[in-house]
Amino acid sequence: MRSAVCWISRHLLHRHSLLGHSPTCKLTAGVSKTDKFRLYVPDLEELRGVLQTGLEKNFAEVRVSVSECPDLTKEPFHFPAEGLCGNPRITDVGGVSYLFPLPQKDKEYNMNIISKEVELPGAFILGAAAAPSSRVNAELMPLVLTEAQGRPAVNSSYFACINPANGQCLQEKYSDRFSDCNFGLLGNLYACEGKSGKVIEVRTKRRTGGHSLVTALRKTLEGCYPDKSLALGGTFIIQKGKAKIHIMPREFSVYPLITSEDVNNWLKHFEVNAPLICQSVLVSRDPGLDLRIEHTHCFSHHGEGGHYYIDTTPDCVEYLGYFLPAEFVYRIDRPKETHGAGLI
Ligand SMILES: [Zn+2]
Repeated sequence: MRSAVCWISRHLLHRHSLLGHSPTCKLTAGVSKTDKFRLYVPDLEELRGVLQTGLEKNFAEVRVSVSECPDLTKEPFHFPAEGLCGNPRITDVGGVSYLFPLPQKDKEYNMNIISKEVELPGAFILGAAAAPSSRVNAELMPLVLTEAQGRPAVNSSYFACINPANGQCLQEKYSDRFSDCNFGLLGNLYACEGKSGKVIEVRTKRRTGGHSLVTALRKTLEGCYPDKSLALGGTFIIQKGKAKIHIMPREFSVYPLITSEDVNNWLKHFEVNAPLICQSVLVSRDPGLDLRIEHTHCFSHHGEGGHYYIDTTPDCVEYLGYFLPAEFVYRIDRPKETHGAGLI
């Protein structure tokens, strides 16, 4: 049963600042209320068993356990928070419809404001988003400890764009170039208090099925809980092998991108090397909020990163991931129209 809550009255004042502080930003009539939906959260032990069985259909070796979250401030993560725990929730901000057929470059959001919008000010936020297109057209790998009373925000995000010198992937720390916590167009984010605690640990080796790790997790949940909506967020490392990614070009297309083929021809595709640190948000079933059901971006310490599709080396791939089920999803600035040309 959908139980969307209209926040428009409570959040009306800061609604007007939701799109950030860029002078190009406009508040349009399309900025709608935020919808909040309570997700189904199974017991972690139950979830462990479900994922163990489901992933065995897609990987030769699978070990799912309920474990302590490792300290994510350490190697190889270097996140600005220790863990994935404490009031986990996800948000789907904006959407592909703000990018295609023509980009709405004024769509810009701020992580500090998003943290308040998901009722967790000071949250640690990770996931997959687009960089603010007023600065650079790029894939964004958000890793932000948002500001709290007495503490400024810590932005450990990366972005990946096309290197104009050679057409290859160029990954940089966001804070090396910019001092804000903004993103543009769309974002699929997991927010929590950044605390340590119990999480679902997933170890898989050798892919035998056709699904990526993220799709395999999502399909497993969809199959086991067909009448419920569950979401997972977290991080995983592709420890061995290679992966297929894309990066948006630096320039938007001057022509409207109508079909999936148009979009794929515009995107730049690469095969990149492990180890890759991926941030992921997935939803088993859209409860009617026009949600993107999975989105994963990755970064590395060797200069490669972008939008993850799947590993390209099933015979030798190894994954190690940490996930938690989210308690709520917040749909922020939902586009009025859905665009089906492809996902970015
Ligand atoms: Zn993406």
